Amino acid sequence: MRKPIIAGNWKLNKTIAEARELAAQLTENLKGIEDREVIIAPVYTALSAVAEVLENSPIQLAAQNCYPEISGAFTGEISPQFLQDAGCQYVIIGHSERRHLMAETDHFINQKMIKVLETGLKPILCIGETLQERENNQMLEILSKQIKGGLANFTTEQMSTVVIAYEPVWAIGTGKTASTEQAQDAHFFIRGLVQELFNPEVAEQTRILYGGSVKPDNVDSLMAQQDIDGALVGGASLKAEDFIRIVQFEI
Ligand code: PEP
Repeated sequence: MRKPIIAGNWKLNKTIAEARELAAQLTENLKGIEDREVIIAPVYTALSAVAEVLENSPIQLAAQNCYPEISGAFTGEISPQFLQDAGCQYVIIGHSERRHLMAETDHFINQKMIKVLETGLKPILCIGETLQERENNQMLEILSKQIKGGLANFTTEQMSTVVIAYEPVWAIGTGKTASTEQAQDAHFFIRGLVQELFNPEVAEQTRILYGGSVKPDNVDSLMAQQDIDGALVGGASLKAEDFIRIVQFEI
């Protein structure tokens, strides 16, 4: 059984005070939740403050990115170790906004994945095709390249804490959700690829989240799909009411 994960990516939103307030609303309403993991990813400057609010709560803390070094002369960067120090358990790696706006490559993403695991944090590796790639029938090739690149040189043991998020770029922040069939087909393909690269046990236990305009009114049907093990939620994670409903999905 794969325990579902609902993760909120707050992106570049919420001041420290606003982040505290949203986290407090979530802790208040999601007490004692055990059958699913809940993760929130505020901006770096709010991590410590939110970690304090999350103390004694089952909600876990994630960062939205990191640099693949532990410490040193890397001005303006943040390492997995410092994120752990701030109270994080998870780190989102290779989000499409970073791949496209900051030109992150699969090799760089792989280096981050390795450092995150070395530190003992859990990575959420994001992959997904653009609309043009989908229309050119390159989707499977792109997903395959991103998975093979991001997980290069990984052992089966290292895969035990890796979470994958399939986020079609054309569905992120656009209000366009992939249909349940489109999402399930992509997730089925990704799981098959993980099996090919590692083994059936790894494929069976790896959690694959869907991301791309997940909302209270589409989460139930997405979560009912066999290979969808959770959601990475952007816009709808900024409103307590919406995110709480998404966490409380029913299948
Ligand atoms: C995201 O940021 O990962 C995301 C899926 O955003 P949205 O839910 O707003 O599409």
